[in-house]
Amino acid sequence: MTIKLDETHDMQRRSWVSSANGHAEFPIQNLPLAIFSVNGDKPRGGVAIGDEVFDLKAACDAKLFSGRANSAARAAKKSTLNALMALGAGPRAALRQQVSALLAEGTAESAQAQALANKLLHKAADCALLLPAKIGAFTDFFAGITHAENGGKRRGTVPPLNENYRYVPVAYHSRASTVRPTGEPVRRPNGQRLAGSDKLPTFGPCLKMDFELEFGIWMGKGNAWGEAIPINKAGQHVYGYCMLNDWSARDIQRWESAPLGPFLSKNFGTTISPWVVTPEALAPFRIAQPARPAGDPKPLDYLWNKTDQREGALDLEIEVLIHTEGMRTQGLPPQRISVSNTKHLYWTVAQMVAHHTCGGCSLEPGDIFGSGTISGPTPENYGSIAELSFDGTCDIQLASGEIRRWVEDGDDIILRAHGRRAGYASIGFGECCARMVAGAAA
Ligand code: MN
Repeated sequence: MTIKLDETHDMQRRSWVSSANGHAEFPIQNLPLAIFSVNGDKPRGGVAIGDEVFDLKAACDAKLFSGRANSAARAAKKSTLNALMALGAGPRAALRQQVSALLAEGTAESAQAQALANKLLHKAADCALLLPAKIGAFTDFFAGITHAENGGKRRGTVPPLNENYRYVPVAYHSRASTVRPTGEPVRRPNGQRLAGSDKLPTFGPCLKMDFELEFGIWMGKGNAWGEAIPINKAGQHVYGYCMLNDWSARDIQRWESAPLGPFLSKNFGTTISPWVVTPEALAPFRIAQPARPAGDPKPLDYLWNKTDQREGALDLEIEVLIHTEGMRTQGLPPQRISVSNTKHLYWTVAQMVAHHTCGGCSLEPGDIFGSGTISGPTPENYGSIAELSFDGTCDIQLASGEIRRWVEDGDDIILRAHGRRAGYASIGFGECCARMVAGAAA
């Protein structure tokens, strides 16, 4: 689905909300959606603008919207965005256009909004950002080919990639109930794991805690059970994007995964950034899907679409930062330990949607996909600590003098994403951040 660039993308457009102008994450060209609560009020939908949250319920009640944008704003009054997501792409784009006009400098609509500013805007620092949707299902893909290869090498698999990898967008059904927004600590899980060189398992806290640098994809309009979503229609079903940390207990995973794949090693917690960045906001950062390595098979027909190949990938810089207890004590800022890019994904989002549904599986508004860990080709691009520390055999040096081979209790893991392209305003996703904390005694 090609999204046309319009006045909402114009980098000259400025907002009367002054903190938005030049904002590293939320200039007026972004306008991501979230569910927020302020002063313990009922949660509702909002839009990020600079350091403020624009209250969609207040704006809707003030009758600032018309047509399809009004339908969207009405749906966003609820305590989750599921109803808004169910409306699909048209109302979302209409809402973006009208919110942009209301928040822009010098438009006909902006005077009315500016007069109501004290009702419509809340300081983001005063707002709690909640899960944007009730998540019915969470599917985690494996579309980062370098990560997949590095995992195979660690396991000593020859060749490191299974033969199916270049044909099938591999995924597993993960756990929806433990997906949490930024800021909520994640407890270290207990489980069966192989400690040290043990050949048999013991029960206790995970000894090899890892993060995974992933891109999250929110589903909008669903499909009927039994009916596939063809690849050329996939874009109509994608509602937005976030960053996603698929916390992974590698020692538990190593022991439990044969033959059905990860289970408890992945189901104890997943952290997402709470802002839903829309396909419209990301339109300037669309690029062609990079060519497959020589010798790789052409995807089967149901995964192949010329438009998708031409513009179905995204050029977003994504990064991982760590902030340890020691760094906080010394007053040091978070330290970047990896930088990668969403263009390193082997499969496009449309291919993931087409594959997920090709057998008739229904997707529902508020379902979420993880892309898989997005490691780039070189070690500074690796998206998990297992790769960065070469399976716990190499030290990662931190500015505090500490070293890391795995994630320790007290470590904040922060994921960020930014789109930057000459001629367009840069936008960001906001942080995906959570602290790993000690779990219950085994
Ligand atoms: Mn994962």
